[in-house]
Amino acid sequence: MKLALHWKILIGLVLGLAFGYFMKTIDAKDFVTDWIKPFGTVFINLLKMIAVPLIVVSLITGLADLKDISKLSKLGSRTVVLYLFTTFLAVSTGLVLANIVNPGKFINAESRQSLLENFAGDASKKIELAVNQKSKGPLQPLLDIVPDNIFGALSNNGSMLQVILFVILIGIGLILIDPEKAKPVTDFFKGFNDVILKIIDLIMLIAPIGVFSLMSALMVEIPDFSVLQALLIYAFTVVIGLLLMTYGVYPTLLKVLAKYPVKKFFSAMAPAQILAFSTSSSAATLPVTMERVIEHVGVEEEVASFVLPLGATVNMDGTSLYQAVAAIFIAQAFSMDLTFSQQVMIILTATLASIGTAAVPSAGMVTLVIILGQAGIPEAGLALIFAIDRPLDMLRTVTNITSDATVATIVASSVGKLNKPEPHEWDENLKK
Ligand code: ASP
Repeated sequence: MKLALHWKILIGLVLGLAFGYFMKTIDAKDFVTDWIKPFGTVFINLLKMIAVPLIVVSLITGLADLKDISKLSKLGSRTVVLYLFTTFLAVSTGLVLANIVNPGKFINAESRQSLLENFAGDASKKIELAVNQKSKGPLQPLLDIVPDNIFGALSNNGSMLQVILFVILIGIGLILIDPEKAKPVTDFFKGFNDVILKIIDLIMLIAPIGVFSLMSALMVEIPDFSVLQALLIYAFTVVIGLLLMTYGVYPTLLKVLAKYPVKKFFSAMAPAQILAFSTSSSAATLPVTMERVIEHVGVEEEVASFVLPLGATVNMDGTSLYQAVAAIFIAQAFSMDLTFSQQVMIILTATLASIGTAAVPSAGMVTLVIILGQAGIPEAGLALIFAIDRPLDMLRTVTNITSDATVATIVASSVGKLNKPEPHEWDENLKK
């Protein structure tokens, strides 16, 4: 019997956690760090390596296929509206939940003190990063989008928006010039695109091994359970919120706005979700998210190649929800009561902060510092949530990429670029 890819990756994940746990109990952490972890790093590097070429070729191919600039602006405006809408829903969900559960009231003075002491050093490093990010002026994000050297941007995985801008210009150029002259260029990129998609298939063959190594390394690195215990109610609040978004809000949006079979959507997306969980990085997961959305969900490439890279960079629902809960948690832990207007401010800053969050592990924590600062909550409170951040990061990254895929599906359906599967095709598709 041939196992579906997501089962293989899931088995790698469970075995990795068990192996890591075992190695921790026999005190063989160094073995995992020296001999197992590098395979996980190789796997993530392969994904990151293919991400920029994928964005470039698929976006050029996709835009050239649009053949019309007005279609691009329609696509762009719908995408932006939906991204803002889902982020708003996510922050609001986080705020409502945090106000119902009041997670900060469950933490006693003793655990608060010990967390603050133990993680003050780690927290101050993040605060420093945030200060650097903030010190560049309010319009810096705008300046950051426009590269002064395209090769500089292409060689930096953190410059995804700059690459997208440049490629959109190439796409527009291709639409505007004589079709005869555009054809050889588009044909070249179309062929190249198939090659890149094939490489992603090849990389995914080793995904179970990559995920195994990542999980065993994680297991030996995270703090002991006794440290995490004080944070369980807080973690629970974040997890409930993420589950509500991932399995409540997105399926509803998919059903209502795209009439898409929800079960099919989740089976198609499972490998990307498990990968997001294992890597904690929307950027590293992007190649797989794109491959799943195009080849398994049925979104045409011209939509997916535009909506998904943009979403990986700016649409982070899971992150914004977590930031809202974390801000309230820290405020409550310091016995501060936030007024209604302070909470409305959090909606605004968390939306902006999540847009500015890089799609890499624990980046959401850095931009959380800005939210805390705006709301007058002590930034040192970051130390309180540090210990449990990694597992929550893994989960919020799953929500982040699921939201991107949901929006891509809805936008595609609204412009007639979604190939919904016939019911009898589902089972065949799912086996791949
Ligand atoms: N790890 C998240 C992502 O890549 C960002 C964050 O919330 O830290 O989507």
